[in-house]
Amino acid sequence: MNLWVAKAIVLLASIVMVAIRAPHGQRSRGAPVLRSRKGTLEVVLLTIAWVAFFLPLIWVATPVLASANYPLRPVPLFAGTVCLTLALWLFHRSHADLGTNWSITLEVRERHRLVTRGLYRRIRHPMYLALLLYSAGQALVLPNYVAGPSYGVAMALLVAFRLGPEERMMLEEFGKDYQDYMPRTKRLVPGVW
Ligand code: SAH
Repeated sequence: MNLWVAKAIVLLASIVMVAIRAPHGQRSRGAPVLRSRKGTLEVVLLTIAWVAFFLPLIWVATPVLASANYPLRPVPLFAGTVCLTLALWLFHRSHADLGTNWSITLEVRERHRLVTRGLYRRIRHPMYLALLLYSAGQALVLPNYVAGPSYGVAMALLVAFRLGPEERMMLEEFGKDYQDYMPRTKRLVPGVW
């Protein structure tokens, strides 16, 4: 299959992701940060995430990673497109549910409210689920050994190293409310974990 199909899907998914985040990011910036826990680990994880987000775009726009290409097949392309679509829907919904309580890093804002509705009614980290699903979709759609799994590696690291500190921060911030919320929900996969 022609690589341009994969390139168009990867580019479109990246644009949609940025378009979903942009207005929420702008609105959140209007809510001042009360407490930040952006330590060295957060800086490292976010830097890896940025690099991993741009690698697929470098693959789309330039031939520098072309030596790591492999043939594009219809089944992974289709499965990946389904994953990307579902991921972007989850990404949009979780941003809508979180509203101005969203931050790119571990932060608590002024008038921060604990969100327990919408997607947050069943799982505590729907946005991370969206990012992991997006990574799986991109790995399936993008036939390149470097750019294909790059975002997945970054998101796996982010989720592995951030879930614990984020939940500890929320527990310290919201006390009993978060303590009561935890047993009613799973972390990432509804009904499973
Ligand atoms: N882990 C969540 C949110 C990711 S954004 C998810 O995957 O959907 C990260 C920020 O969201 C954290 O810094 C924290 O301030 C905020 N946050 C996380 N869970 C929240 C909740 N249930 N209600 C309000 N804010 C939350």
